[in-house]
Amino acid sequence: MLIVKKFGGTSVGSPERIMNVAIRCVEDFKKGHDVVVVLSAMGKTTDELIELAHKVNPKPPKRELDMLMTTGEQISVAMMAMAMDSLGVRAVSLNAYQVAMHTTSRYGNARLKRIDSDRIRHELEDHKIVIVTGFQGINKYDDYTTLGRGGSDTTAVALAAALHADACEIYTDVDGVYTCDPRIVKSARKLKEITYDEMLELATLGAGVLHNRSVEMAKKYGVTLVVRSSLNYSEGTLVKEDTKVERMLISGVAVDKNADRISVIGLKDQPGVAFRLFDVLAKANVNVDMILQSIGRDGTKDISFTCDDGAIDDAIKALEANKERLGYKSLDTLEDVAKVSIVGAGMMSHPGVAAKMFEALYNAGININMISTSEIRVTVLIREKEAERAAEAIHDLFDLGD
Ligand code: ADP
Ligand code: ASP
Ligand code: MG
Repeated sequence: MLIVKKFGGTSVGSPERIMNVAIRCVEDFKKGHDVVVVLSAMGKTTDELIELAHKVNPKPPKRELDMLMTTGEQISVAMMAMAMDSLGVRAVSLNAYQVAMHTTSRYGNARLKRIDSDRIRHELEDHKIVIVTGFQGINKYDDYTTLGRGGSDTTAVALAAALHADACEIYTDVDGVYTCDPRIVKSARKLKEITYDEMLELATLGAGVLHNRSVEMAKKYGVTLVVRSSLNYSEGTLVKEDTKVERMLISGVAVDKNADRISVIGLKDQPGVAFRLFDVLAKANVNVDMILQSIGRDGTKDISFTCDDGAIDDAIKALEANKERLGYKSLDTLEDVAKVSIVGAGMMSHPGVAAKMFEALYNAGININMISTSEIRVTVLIREKEAERAAEAIHDLFDLGD
């Protein structure tokens, strides 16, 4: 069997933890499996590197930031190979350049395009454990790129797909995917299984346990994932196309505090206004999420939208630069907002799910700022300081907990 095993930052956060991971991987290797290990940077290394960069430049060039951040993963893979060597097992660490993991050219948020699997296959045939840096790639200029925060999961899934692996295991600091972030809702329950579609929504809506692109890729290539703990041997959660065990209305609640809201006030109430507004934002590379347009009154209307808090400066800059053309009166921004979402394939066939979510918020005295829905989710925008309480109230009313 060929197994891809990915370990996150906490799982390799100290020399002891690295040793623990090495032992776990060697166990599989000694059973006769081919083992490819994907690692994140140790502990909070990536955060620390970003902080370090900001000490010399408040707006570090993205290329150089990637050059810096990719060193984090390089430390952990080298350490892991040394740990395995100390256990008497042959292992080789490889970075994105050595493997040849080709990505798009966009620094800080590149997408994997193609992976050469020759080097890895050759090392596996040579009876070595292969340890690969997560989160990084190389672009057409032969520069290092990164895949976005949390991107090591995507490296693992991409490798599993490229190598036609028999298993792809994502080891982290929780036992699996829960009905809500267990740090937010104490009574959250571990799911045995979850579908790609539900997991993709949860991951996109703030459940950081998996990088959303890793789920997208797993679905595309049919890679079954298991999310489990590196600190114990409990079963974990399967992420796959179909689930049988649990047929629940709602599979989880997600919280995303990275949202900001911008309201564009006093736009003309006529055709083409929304097009021009969102065209300006798209050209500034701002990803817009929830959108709300008010009813026109006296020939004017307001449009509000949310974006990631990292994008708000670019959004404001673009809107201000085009004030005349867009013809609005003023901008109003709200930064202390959060998105709370419920996700579940069951809601497609059950009316009243959104109403129940709003009831939970009403009972908790929490005001809703914006609402958006899809077939399998409902998202509300609320005050950030009420996010935890909202998640708990919703989780309780849907009776998701233990
Ligand atoms: P790693 O470094 O292993 O990639 P992450 O911090 O990226 O770990 O992801 C694991 C964390 O995701 C958990 O510690 C947990 O707080 C958070 N999390 C958010 N939502 C969920 C969820 N629904 N189920 C499990 N964990 C979640
Ligand atoms: N080390 C990177 C980060 O902190 C990638 C990852 O952890 O998946 O975002
Ligand atoms: Mg992660």
